[in-house]
Amino acid sequence: MPRFCARCGAPEAPDRPIIAGLCPRCYVEVRRPVEISQRVEITYCPRCYSIRVRGRWLPVSSYEEFMERAKELIRSGIRARDPNAKLLSVDVSMEFDEPRARVTVALLLGGRAVVSIEREVAVSWRRRLCPMCFRRAGGTFEAVVQVRFFNYDERVVEKLKSIALSSEFANDVVELEENRWGFDVKVGSSFVAKRLAEVLRRSVDLPSKLVESFGDVRRSRDGRRRGRLYISLRFINLRRGDYLVYRGRAYTVDSVSRHGVVLEDSSGRRMRVSYAELIEGFRK
Ligand SMILES: [Zn+2]
Ligand SMILES: [Zn+2]
Repeated sequence: MPRFCARCGAPEAPDRPIIAGLCPRCYVEVRRPVEISQRVEITYCPRCYSIRVRGRWLPVSSYEEFMERAKELIRSGIRARDPNAKLLSVDVSMEFDEPRARVTVALLLGGRAVVSIEREVAVSWRRRLCPMCFRRAGGTFEAVVQVRFFNYDERVVEKLKSIALSSEFANDVVELEENRWGFDVKVGSSFVAKRLAEVLRRSVDLPSKLVESFGDVRRSRDGRRRGRLYISLRFINLRRGDYLVYRGRAYTVDSVSRHGVVLEDSSGRRMRVSYAELIEGFRK
């Protein structure tokens, strides 16, 4: 016996299943199987066009990427909330700074019928300086991570730079400045600077020495003395023939292994030094 839609009377057909007594069209109107946020707020930085997603600022490298992230925010407010409905695709059409976006949702109902739903979503564009641009505008940062190498190694420098500039640290890294010994990273928060130094240290398999010190000490408004934290992260990537000072004496590096080095003094005497010992008594 053919079934009919209880609302509009349309008979069941191969492309028109009757779901819970309703045809797909009526099902969508009555049951509202998709949740679409009516209003979406998009917060972005007017200087660098970073966009705020779930509390994090994500940097973008192009206008296309910016708009893609903005559309993604609208898509994230759309979900099927009905076991008979499955989202097939969500298309968002929107222009920058326009107060409205048009959303087209393709929905699979009852496993057979494809229904398309169109809605308008109100968009409020909020401009707010991201922490990085905010600090840049005020020029403040709490800490500097100074990454140095015994022998400058471009491959390692590039790897570490990409970590420092990754989105994980984007909210706090104010500036990265390269120099011929390595690079300096200015970091808004000293807490994050310590974490960054640890992450950098662990991401390459080289012996390293980490030293913290305070500089530029000033009295702050509450009367406390505050200094900028300097974290020196020095990678001791030695090569045969390098010249160094160890415990106050000059040596040439004779050989390098995974566990340590063999040093030779000016009279040709050699000694084996572990990296732990070397890091203790090391000076360039
Ligand atoms: Zn119907
Ligand atoms: Zn910014």
